[in-house]
Amino acid sequence: MNTFRQHSKTRSRAVLVAGGAGFLGSTLCERLIADGERVICLDNMQTGTTGNLAALAREPRFSLVEQDVCDPVPRSLEVDAVFNLACAASPPRYQADPVHTMMTCVMGTHHLLDHCAAHGARFVQASTSEVYGDPREHPQREDYWGHVNPIGPRACYDEGKRAAETLCFDYRRGKGGGGAVDVRVARIFNTYGPRMRPDDGRIVSNLICQALADQPLTIYGTGEQTRSFCYVDDMIEGLVRLMRVDPAPDGPVNLGNPGEFTILELAEMVLDLVETTSRVAHEPLPTDDPQRRRPDVSRAETHLGWRPTTPLSAGLPPTIDWFAGLVQHRRADRRAPVAEASALHGVA
Ligand code: NAD
Ligand code: UDP
Repeated sequence: MNTFRQHSKTRSRAVLVAGGAGFLGSTLCERLIADGERVICLDNMQTGTTGNLAALAREPRFSLVEQDVCDPVPRSLEVDAVFNLACAASPPRYQADPVHTMMTCVMGTHHLLDHCAAHGARFVQASTSEVYGDPREHPQREDYWGHVNPIGPRACYDEGKRAAETLCFDYRRGKGGGGAVDVRVARIFNTYGPRMRPDDGRIVSNLICQALADQPLTIYGTGEQTRSFCYVDDMIEGLVRLMRVDPAPDGPVNLGNPGEFTILELAEMVLDLVETTSRVAHEPLPTDDPQRRRPDVSRAETHLGWRPTTPLSAGLPPTIDWFAGLVQHRRADRRAPVAEASALHGVA
C-alpha cells in the first residue's frame, strides 16, 4: 500500500486532518483509518460535529484535537502529512463571520504550512472552484486566473482561498522559512453526499430537506445558473491520490464532476426521487452568485489517473436516504426538538 509514511523518518507519525469533523473531513478520516493510517483530527467544531466522528470514537489510531487553526498548531503533533480542510464551505455559514473565514483561510493555512515545514510533512490544501469567481472562461481550467469581486459578501471565502493558494506556492518555493514544503492544491468543485448537515444551507441539502418536509424548494434567481456536482466518495479518492502521488503536480488540480446541471434541473431530479408535495419557489439571487461552473479535469486525469465515477443520478439516492434517515430518527425520538436537526448528529 502506498501510504504517506514511505517518506517519513519515524513510524510514529500521523496524518493530520484539519477540519476533520466536517462533511468531507470526517469521510476522509474514516478512509485514512481504513487504509491503516494514524489520524489526528484538528477542528474547532464550527460546522463539524462529534457525531460525524462517531464511527471513530473507539478507534485507537484516531484522536481529536479541538482547536481553531487561527491559533498555532502544537509543535508536539508529529505528522507526516496534513490535509487542510478547515473552513466552513457553505455560503451562509462562511458569510456569518466573514473576518473569521478570512483568518481561517490565511492564518490557518499559514500555521499548518509552518507545521509542515517543521516536521517535513506533505500538505494538501482544500482550495475551491470559488477561486475562479463568476468565471468568464468555461469550463474552468487551472490556468484560468478567475473573475472575483474582492469586496463582495463572498470575498471572505473566495479571496481567503486565493490568498491561501498564494501561501501554499510561496512555501513550496521555500519562501516560508523552515525549508520548502511539498505542497499540493486541490480546487474542489461542489461536492455533496451523506453527512452534509440539514441546516448547511447549500443547494443539495436544502432541496432534499425541503422535499422531504413537503416545503417549497427554494430556487435563487431563475435557476438557470449551473453547477457541477461531485459525489463525496469520488472527491475523497481524488484527495487521497493527490496526497500520495509522487512527484507532486506542479500547480493546482481541479477535482470535480464535469457533469453540468442547472439548479432547476437538480430540483427536478430531487422532485422525481422524493415522494413529496413540494413545488419550486423562486427567491432573489444572492450577490455575486456565479452563473456557470464546470471543471476541466484533464490535469487530474493525467497526474492522478482520477476521474469521478458517480453520476448525479447515482449519487442523489444515497444522499436522499441519508437525510430521510435523519428525519425518521427525529420522528422516532419525540424528545428531540424538531427544529434542532443538528442535535441528531451530535453537534458539539
Ligand atoms: P464543512 O463545513 O462540513 O467542514 C469544514 C470543517 O472545518 C468543519 O468541521 C469546521 O468545524 C472546521 N473549521 C472551520 N473553521 C475552522 C477553524 N478556524 N479551525 C478549525 N476548524 C475549522 O465543509 P466541507 O464541505 O466538508 O468542506 C471541507 C473543505 O473543502 C473546506 O475547506 C472547503 O472550503 C473545501 N471545499 C468544499 C467544497 C464542497 O462542495 N464540499 C467545495 C469547495 C471547497
Ligand atoms: N441555491 C438555490 N437555492 C438554495 C441554495 C442555493 O437556488 O436553497 C443556488 C445558489 O444561489 C447557487 C447554487 O444554488 O447558484 C449553488 O449554491 P451552493 O450554496 O450550494 O454553492 P455555491 O454557490 O458555493 O456553488
